[in-house]
Amino acid sequence: MLYVDVLVIGSGPTGSLITKYLIKERIREVRTVDPSGIWGGAYFSNTRLCNISVDKIPIFIKYDEKTIIEEEFEAPLSCSYLKPILIRENNVYKKMLSSYEIKDFQRPWFLEWKGKLCLMHKSLEDYIIIKDLKPIPSTVRILDLRKSIVVLRSNAVIKYKYLIWTAPLPELIKCLKNVPSGFNSFLRKLKWINSYIVILCLEGKKPKWTLAYHGTRATKAHTFVIKHHNNNYILYAIANFSNKEKAIPGFTEKLISDIKRLQIVPSPFKIKDEKTFTVKYSILSKVSFKDLKSLKSKIESRNILLI
Ligand SMILES: Cc1cc2nc3c(=O)[nH]c(=O)nc-3n(C[C@H](O)[C@H](O)[C@H](O)COP(=O)(O)OP(=O)(O)OC[C@H]3O[C@@H](n4cnc5c(N)ncnc54)[C@H](O)[C@@H]3O)c2cc1C
Repeated sequence: MLYVDVLVIGSGPTGSLITKYLIKERIREVRTVDPSGIWGGAYFSNTRLCNISVDKIPIFIKYDEKTIIEEEFEAPLSCSYLKPILIRENNVYKKMLSSYEIKDFQRPWFLEWKGKLCLMHKSLEDYIIIKDLKPIPSTVRILDLRKSIVVLRSNAVIKYKYLIWTAPLPELIKCLKNVPSGFNSFLRKLKWINSYIVILCLEGKKPKWTLAYHGTRATKAHTFVIKHHNNNYILYAIANFSNKEKAIPGFTEKLISDIKRLQIVPSPFKIKDEKTFTVKYSILSKVSFKDLKSLKSKIESRNILLI
């Protein structure tokens, strides 16, 4: 069994920065758990296509957050205006929410990508330097609030004094041992959207736009993002599914055929590389403040901080 003072769950931007801060404040035993095993977590990380390093999901930083981030990471950001185009109108917002009602959901990220936005040049891992420490590459399987013990998927057992939970809320409720009353009914009220992100490295004439929305049912994809890389270019095609749906088998191939059929990018083009990622909990339903407050107080009385 591993004994720690503070156990941080999730190494996304929040978990990474909290870990870095705790170590700076000389909290002795701090460990972080995330299935990605890297600082930046599931989203703020890169992959390789056509031998170049590419963001797993396009992440833009709002211009008014530029200074804070530059100061935190001691690195400059490059910023420019992003003006979306509409390939097909109709209700893009509704398409992004699959069958769910707009009023029940938080605003989708994809609609925030406009105006003056900035880009980080590397993945978060390159900015969060914590000497000799990496997140434990696993997920929490059981959280025993009474014994202050976490059991990981790898079967490792960790005893903590304090636990900081930064991962999505449904994941917390799912792994609780002896679920406190009211938690399961809260979980049943939560709804979410999962996103499928198909990244293609293409050779061919580049489109004139950087961000495009598609609002009709002719394709499941609703958002397309282009990034230029020398002779090739990267195309992100993003489609959403509600937590009640599953992607059809051969989903990536279907999306590629839609891109050709609907001439989303100029043809002919050659696919030189491709990857598909699933982003679980991409858009979340709104939660009642009253329900959340009662859940938080029950959890936080057990030395757990929800972020
Ligand atoms: C499609 C999409 C596009 C986005 N675009 C932008 C953008 O352009 N600009 C922007 O500022 N923000 C964007 N966001 C939002 C941004 O991703 C979040 O604000 C940010 O990731 C929040 O950081 P976090 O550390 O709080 O959570 P997360 O980044 O979600 O980190 C949580 C971590 O918990 C881990 N985890 C999950 N379950 C478990 C478990 N059971 N045990 C252990 N670990 C677990 C996950 O692997 C993940 O790494 C986007 C989000 C999505 C989904």
